[in-house]
Amino acid sequence: MSRTPLMAGNWKMNLDHLEANHLVQGLAMELRDHNHDYSRCEVLVIPPFTDIRTVQTIVDADELGIKYGAQDVSIHDNGAYTGEISTSMLTKLGCTYVVMGHSERREYHNESDELVGAKARKVLDAGMTPILCCGEALEVRKAGTHVEFVLSQIRAALAGWSAQDVAQIVIAYEPIWAIGTGETATAEDAQEVCGAIRSALAQDFGAETAEVTRVLYGGSAKPDNIKELMAQPDIDGALIGGASLKADSFAEMARFYA
Ligand code: PEP
Repeated sequence: MSRTPLMAGNWKMNLDHLEANHLVQGLAMELRDHNHDYSRCEVLVIPPFTDIRTVQTIVDADELGIKYGAQDVSIHDNGAYTGEISTSMLTKLGCTYVVMGHSERREYHNESDELVGAKARKVLDAGMTPILCCGEALEVRKAGTHVEFVLSQIRAALAGWSAQDVAQIVIAYEPIWAIGTGETATAEDAQEVCGAIRSALAQDFGAETAEVTRVLYGGSAKPDNIKELMAQPDIDGALIGGASLKADSFAEMARFYA
């Protein structure tokens, strides 16, 4: 397969910089002890902003294969935007990925598809990889309109994009009802939507773009279900919350191929 699997740990608002230090060192050790092959699965941690410098220091000093990124970014370059963080601040710290459109930001910070698309654009222009999140609430799932809902989120965010640019992003399908609830979508549920995302990419941007764009699943993914999820043809990795906060469980998930 031309798509390198990606395990991305979204720490959300957890762990101070000392705890971040401990987790990254522990993760690196787990992966090293099990001879993790980074070419078979990229490992990415996504800490709070205040931990990024610490993570950078460990990764650089120990020349780790672990990558790191940010949970959000501003659409502005600099200036009077109190509390915001720019793409250049993140690239200076060695970040290579940025998440946008997580359901928690959509819900608590009223982020629209258009804003999410603008953030993705900004991140790509800065040379980092956007991880564009999408996903439906339980009512939408119950109404059976989840596929069209998710596709409309993606299409609104990527309106006007070129195929070449879309090929460089990562899309994360995260059904809201499965995030942090312990309720995982079945592998078939996850495949249904991830497959529909790939078909929509093929329709809108061409088969070649659809073939190389990575689509992740997120929502109570854990060591127990990762192999089944990764066995699905259109799931290229996972965006992992809770299970990424423990070095052993996250490392085990990165080694899904073993
Ligand atoms: C997430 O934070 O994106 C997530 C999927 O969380 P959890 O794995 O805890 O459900």
